[in-house]
Amino acid sequence: MLQMELELQSNEDYAEACMDSSKLPSLSVVNHLLNNEFRKIYGSRRESDIDREVEKYISSYNQQPFCKAAFSKVKNSLAIAVVTPIMKRSIDLLSNVQEMIMLDASGHMDRLNHRVYFFISPGVAGGIPIGCIITNAEETNIFREGVKLLCECFPEKCCLLQNGPLIVMTDDDLKEREVLSEIWPNSTYLLCQFHVLKAVWRWLMNSENKILKEHHQELYFSFKSLMYAETEMQLKELLQNMLENSTVRKYDKFIIYLSKLFSKKHLWCTCHRKMLLTRGNNTTNYVESLFKVLKETILGRVKAFSLVQLLDFIVTKFEKYLHSRYLDFSFGRSNKKLVKRFLPDDKGIIQNIRSLNKDNTYFEIDQHFVDLESSICTCFVGMNGKLCKHLSAVILKQNKQSTFVYSLESRKLMYEVATGKKLDSNSTLLLPLSFNS
Ligand SMILES: [Zn+2]
Repeated sequence: MLQMELELQSNEDYAEACMDSSKLPSLSVVNHLLNNEFRKIYGSRRESDIDREVEKYISSYNQQPFCKAAFSKVKNSLAIAVVTPIMKRSIDLLSNVQEMIMLDASGHMDRLNHRVYFFISPGVAGGIPIGCIITNAEETNIFREGVKLLCECFPEKCCLLQNGPLIVMTDDDLKEREVLSEIWPNSTYLLCQFHVLKAVWRWLMNSENKILKEHHQELYFSFKSLMYAETEMQLKELLQNMLENSTVRKYDKFIIYLSKLFSKKHLWCTCHRKMLLTRGNNTTNYVESLFKVLKETILGRVKAFSLVQLLDFIVTKFEKYLHSRYLDFSFGRSNKKLVKRFLPDDKGIIQNIRSLNKDNTYFEIDQHFVDLESSICTCFVGMNGKLCKHLSAVILKQNKQSTFVYSLESRKLMYEVATGKKLDSNSTLLLPLSFNS
């Protein structure tokens, strides 16, 4: 990079300039400087010094107000848990944390390839991180230790330490589900539909399974139709058709694989999610997109110098990113495409609304029933709590400031999550309702 910039700047003098090591230092000099400078800030990067450096960093981090991190090392297993001030306020203030938590892990962020787990609650302002765990290996016991530490970092008496969330969504990693069901035994566990489809596609592509290339798509799409079946009856019919299909019958191995997947259909099939308050979230893509931000924006596509630097970037730079993202949301500067699904819209049915109780919380509209308090409708789209056209019309008619939709109330709430301060309803900061398109 430096060499290219030097060539662009120096024109004909480039040959002479590149001989000058003050302008173009060698790689070993750059490496030496980087190690020296970063060692002053983040301490030693030697594996044998990691525990001491992390402990030192966490004890100084915990001195700051509302900052909570914990560290444990048992034999060779290392686990760190962090709940930053913004994450703490998200748990305290946002009701969607009680409804759903998503979890996913990623690696390749530092030289020793530690695993980073993010716990995220989906809401109107996107994926809201509520906790982070870092471990040095992908093992059940280490993850269990991380979860134990995270519970110590959660605010006292919060909903996550009492009943836990209604729904927990993960990818098909048994280790995570097993451990989480120990602390949240009453939650409903679901699989991310995107990860299930990805696993099926990978299985079909695996040469060991000997599926002919021309049949990959057909088998994949027939499984996909099972996933999106709207009723149990439809699911049975689709499965029957699939098993009678001549292409499917060619592959006994695929039928065995399918029966294994089918034995846990309650974890991935849409028709089994009908009465669950998913609010339309069927994948853990919010977590994936936050990992993208962490790797590309925060770490600049470069591996962290050490575990301490990775931890430091999460609690400082990533925290700043959340701060500005939530403020953008509360000041009406969000991208319209991102908030469109939470934006109430009158589809010309507002005149059909009939109130069914004195308190104006229960309504009938085009043969569907809307409960305004819990933001649920009886139609297929709205039965999971997703904003359907009926709920949308009722919210507009009642001028209800729900926190489940893009409204003044949800914007004020995200301001409080970002800053820890309440925003007055008359504040001029709330006036603009324009979007970046
Ligand atoms: Zn509806």
